[in-house]
Amino acid sequence: MNISLIDLKVQYKFIKDEIGKVTSEVLSSTSYINGENVKNFEKEFANYLGAKNAIAVGNGTDALVIALRSLGVGEGDQVITSPFTFFSTAESIAAVGAIPVFVDVDEKTYNIDVNKLEEKITDKTRAIIPVHIFGQPADMDEIMKIAKKYKLKVIEDACQAIGAEYKGKKVGTIGDIGCFSFYPTKNLGCAGDGGMIVTDDDDLAIILKAYRAHGSGENGEEAFNIINKIGEDSIEETSILNNSKVDETVYNPLKYYNYLIGYNSRLDEIQAAILRVKLKYIDNWNEKRIENARYYEENLKRLTNIVCPNEKEDRKHVYHMYIIQSEKREKLIKCLNENGISTGVYYPVPLHLQKAFNYLGYNLGDLPVCEYLSRRTMAIPMFPELTNEQQQYIINYVRSFQCE
Ligand SMILES: *Cc1c(COP(=O)(O)O)cnc(C)c1O
Repeated sequence: MNISLIDLKVQYKFIKDEIGKVTSEVLSSTSYINGENVKNFEKEFANYLGAKNAIAVGNGTDALVIALRSLGVGEGDQVITSPFTFFSTAESIAAVGAIPVFVDVDEKTYNIDVNKLEEKITDKTRAIIPVHIFGQPADMDEIMKIAKKYKLKVIEDACQAIGAEYKGKKVGTIGDIGCFSFYPTKNLGCAGDGGMIVTDDDDLAIILKAYRAHGSGENGEEAFNIINKIGEDSIEETSILNNSKVDETVYNPLKYYNYLIGYNSRLDEIQAAILRVKLKYIDNWNEKRIENARYYEENLKRLTNIVCPNEKEDRKHVYHMYIIQSEKREKLIKCLNENGISTGVYYPVPLHLQKAFNYLGYNLGDLPVCEYLSRRTMAIPMFPELTNEQQQYIINYVRSFQCE
């Protein structure tokens, strides 16, 4: 039996007709950028999360970069984050000219250790980026409390955790800004790249919209005024765009007045159409992931050399990945692979030890928990359509390996 780590084909078969219909509609409409699907998807996504504003962007990495820019984080600032995450989380901090400051993770949840956070705060610290890693929410109450005490901004990296909940609240809506990715293998994935930024702050929403589109047009002017604290009255007087409300993609004169140095980071209309179809199923798919996790747990938890995921009671883990720990990881991976079972290693190199971050000056031993985990954690197949039969096949090999 061959089992992929994430099998997107079963899901595609299930929604093929719906996807075919909406994508061909977009193609014949020739409205490929900022059309009705993007606008509606932003509304539906905000609604799903219970957020006030959702701003679609090109990918999850851009979501983080633009979020940091919108908060004015830049040169010389420090941003605290987890070292046990995908590279993007810290890359985005470096990309805006700021310095990533890594805090070790909790051995059980793999999320940032809130007990070690406060000691890393300096007078240069501007923000915290907690990551809801593998689909389990970070300790948001403690993080928000510390952020409030030191007047820091919080950007949630919810790229792996769409639909996950912390004390009944969807992640991404707890901090100042939440960032999501629609990379194909994420719990809500499109057919290419895509991302979303959510915030309840209307001023931030305008700034975010401006940055994603070259700081131009109405949002650019408004964002410029907000950033520079120019009052409502003076907007009227200085506006050169007063009577030109046009919203055409092909010719929009507002596009050619730029107020900020921004980015070109859009969600394509065709991706938005696909995501609108898939958003309807996300709760159902997440529930199936949770059921699959329960099945693994029941069958693997008694094995002495395997550590199963630890779920905290007050939160909903959406199992983007099913991560186990094994002392003999490389051998177990070889055994599973030889029998047709795909595996993955998340994450083999903690971010503070990545070559690209050499200049930050960290050494092996500085963040012992994530270093320990990086030698032991591995992912076994997890996706909503995974069957009990497939799971049993995987479980049998994990078990028999155990007995060797
Ligand atoms: C996937 C991911 C990102 C980046 O998203 P892209 O859409 O690939 O740019 C950022 N952070 C985390 C934790 C991710 O898993």
